[in-house]
Amino acid sequence: MTVSHRLTAPAPGWTSTTDVVVVGSGVAGLTVALNVRKAGLRAMVVTKAMLDDGSTRWAQGGIAAALGEGDTPEQHLADTLVAGAGLCDEAAVRTLVTEGPDAVRHLIATGAAFDLDQDGEILLTREGGHHRRRIAHAGGDATGAEISRALVSAVRSDPGLELIEHALVLDLLTDADGHAAGLTLHVMGEGQRDGVGAIRARAVVLATGGMGQIFSATTNPAVSTGDGVALALRAGAEVTDLEFVQFHPTVLWLGAEAEGQQPLVSEAVRGEGAHLVDADGVRFMVGQHELAELAPRDIVAKAITRRMQELGTEHMYLDGRHFGAEMWAERFPTILASCRSHGIDPVTELIPVAPAAHYASGGVRTDLLGRTTVPGLYACGEVACTGVHGANRLASNSLLEGLVFAERIAADLTSRHRAGDLPERSVDVAGARAARPVPLLAPEARADIQHLMSTGAGVLRSAASMAGTATGLARLTADEKSADPAVESWEATNLHLVATALVAAAARREETRGCHWREDFPDRDDVNWQRHIISSGPTTR
Ligand SMILES: Cc1cc2nc3c(=O)[nH]c(=O)nc-3n(C[C@H](O)[C@H](O)[C@H](O)COP(=O)(O)OP(=O)(O)OC[C@H]3O[C@@H](n4cnc5c(N)ncnc54)[C@H](O)[C@@H]3O)c2cc1C
Repeated sequence: MTVSHRLTAPAPGWTSTTDVVVVGSGVAGLTVALNVRKAGLRAMVVTKAMLDDGSTRWAQGGIAAALGEGDTPEQHLADTLVAGAGLCDEAAVRTLVTEGPDAVRHLIATGAAFDLDQDGEILLTREGGHHRRRIAHAGGDATGAEISRALVSAVRSDPGLELIEHALVLDLLTDADGHAAGLTLHVMGEGQRDGVGAIRARAVVLATGGMGQIFSATTNPAVSTGDGVALALRAGAEVTDLEFVQFHPTVLWLGAEAEGQQPLVSEAVRGEGAHLVDADGVRFMVGQHELAELAPRDIVAKAITRRMQELGTEHMYLDGRHFGAEMWAERFPTILASCRSHGIDPVTELIPVAPAAHYASGGVRTDLLGRTTVPGLYACGEVACTGVHGANRLASNSLLEGLVFAERIAADLTSRHRAGDLPERSVDVAGARAARPVPLLAPEARADIQHLMSTGAGVLRSAASMAGTATGLARLTADEKSADPAVESWEATNLHLVATALVAAAARREETRGCHWREDFPDRDDVNWQRHIISSGPTTR
């Protein structure tokens, strides 16, 4: 048996075999790989660009865990549940906050150097929605870069772990029982493996990160095209909570025409006391929420968007001039450099900011062991929906989720392996081609999809705006003729599938909750919508 749909692609020209194949090399993928290797399993990591090219490297603020004096997992749980607006899976959150502190310690043991105080204790800061200082950070505001450096260095020093860079994973392969048995991929290189091939494996772990590139303005890097969610949908796995896309409230505003990845001005800047102001210098968050600028992200983003609409402007400002030059250089060197490279000096000037797509709370549905609804297929990190984030992610919970659930996946694979429950899978790679090929969109469709999504299914949504987006998306596939197989057309086709599923879910959820804001249904409706919307293949329920 094979997956029912697959991307149009040439027949695999080469085949490799391993025990566990991990797709993606961010915090989630590399943590799974390192941990399954400890158990003696063979593993391969396949990644689309260079090892450090995902969102992980870009994370600034830090990683949340109840490590500080007086803080407890119970308090971290309470803050996470509030942000999730009634849709968190409490057992998943409890797992996250209870296992989180040890997962951070394991990361430190792997080599990640967090910022310490004079006594050698981890320095902790606060971010939106947290009632405690519980965000560990590294290099001031370069937390993700340090985590990525440490993990990449660890995987590179394991000669038994195979790393395949510049390789775009296309589709899942399954065996006669419908169990994941490997995947197809396209390697962009001139090495031993080149072009389309197949990797046979006993289990497959998706750790492909987010989908921010379905919108015009995003903090996500170019690789974040939702490939894992698209693969899962084609493979018949359940995908859930897609409508809950978090828009980061403070992204450096680079002008009305700016597209693609845009620099983030971390929440930690507000955590350290920067104020949000309008062009007249009014602190418009004061009086809107008890935490003012440190209210949960959706509240801040909504307030910024409303203020922009009221004043007819395209951005607001962040005022951190009172930090002084020394604090900017020590605490926020990355943000300082990024602002200055765009001609803004935060030491003396206001920083123009506006919301942009930042984080996918939803994704491939998993249980607490990271298992998806397709046996043998796991998902971890931003591509997964473990139930931790509900309708909105609490700041800095995502790196932690990647770590905690990666460890759980590795533990599950290890115990299955030891129990003899992870046999070799037999898959007929040629037979897999019986799956129906999906025609490919031309690379230019990417910009059309992004524009349609940002216009109709972005920060503010309504039935009318989403109907326009859905119609526009459908038009893009009206021509059944396939574009030539190439990385850009595979990515555009994935973006389209994910965008279509997201709009279907967002149109269906007729309420405002967490980071999903409906202008036509401005209230939360627990009677009808205290539930998840699940997409599986072409259906949404
Ligand atoms: C600017 C920014 C700042 C952030 N700040 C924070 C923060 O302070 N704290 C926090 O907790 N979270 C933060 N986040 C979110 C967090 O960084 C991500 O959620 C997290 O790093 C995701 O990790 P991941 O391992 O799931 O995916 P990623 O790190 O995105 O890695 C995904 C990997 O999958 C690969 N991939 C994708 N598709 C394919 C394919 N088809 N084939 C092969 N490989 C593929 C990519 O190349 C990449 O290697 C931030 C995100 C951004 C963008």
